[in-house]
Amino acid sequence: MRIDKCDLIETEEFGVGGCGLSREVIEAVVSFHGHFCVGLAIGIRVGDWVRREFGHSEDEELVAAVETDMCAVDAIQFLTGCTFGKGNLIFLDYGKNAYSFFRRNDGKNVRIAPRIEKNETGVTYSDLLFDLQEQRKQLDPNDTEGQKRIRELMIDRVLRTDFDNMFSITPARIPMPEKAGIFKSFPCAKCGELVMLTRLTKNKNGNNLCKECINNDPDY
Ligand SMILES: [Zn+2]
Ligand SMILES: [Zn+2]
Repeated sequence: MRIDKCDLIETEEFGVGGCGLSREVIEAVVSFHGHFCVGLAIGIRVGDWVRREFGHSEDEELVAAVETDMCAVDAIQFLTGCTFGKGNLIFLDYGKNAYSFFRRNDGKNVRIAPRIEKNETGVTYSDLLFDLQEQRKQLDPNDTEGQKRIRELMIDRVLRTDFDNMFSITPARIPMPEKAGIFKSFPCAKCGELVMLTRLTKNKNGNNLCKECINNDPDY
C-alpha cells in the first residue's frame, strides 16, 4: 500500500455531509487506481454514497451506467462492486461526470450528476473548485510542489463538501439495463477465432463474421 499518496488525509473525519469512508478504505481505492487525483476523489464520494444507499454488489445486485470513462469510474467500481468484468457496469460515452445506479431486486434507481442549480449556499458544482483552479492557473507549470499542494486542497475539498451541495440526485433517465447474458461462442468464418454469438454478423453470403473481420469484408 502506497500510503505516501494519501498524506493529505490526516483524519478519518470529513465532517457532517462529507466522505464517510475510513482512511484505510480510501487508501485501498487509491492503490487500485494508482494515484490520488481529483477525479478519483469525486468517484470516492459517489461510490461512498451509493454504497450507503444501495449496498455493495457482490454479484449483479446493482448495475451502474456511467457517462464517462475517467478516473472516477475506478473508485465507483471498487466501492460499489459494479465492475466492467461482471457486466454490471455499462459505459455510455457521453463525456459527462454523471452516474446512474439501479438495484435489481426492487428497481430503486438514481442518477447522480454535477449540480447545475445553485444550492442553498448559492453554489453550483462549477463553483466548487473555482478559486483553486484560478490559483493553479497562476502557478508556474514547473512548480511541482505548488501543483501538488493545489491538487491536495482540491481533493480535500471534494472529500469534505456536503454531497447534496455537489451533486443533483434525480431518478435515472434510462430504463434498467438488461442483465449481462451468457452466450455460446462460434468461430468467425474468416479469422476462425471464437466469438460470442451476439457479436457475430452475417455478410451477404450468409457467413458469420466477427466485428474485426466484417469491417474489412467486401461482401458486407
Ligand atoms: Zn486519476
Ligand atoms: Zn474474424
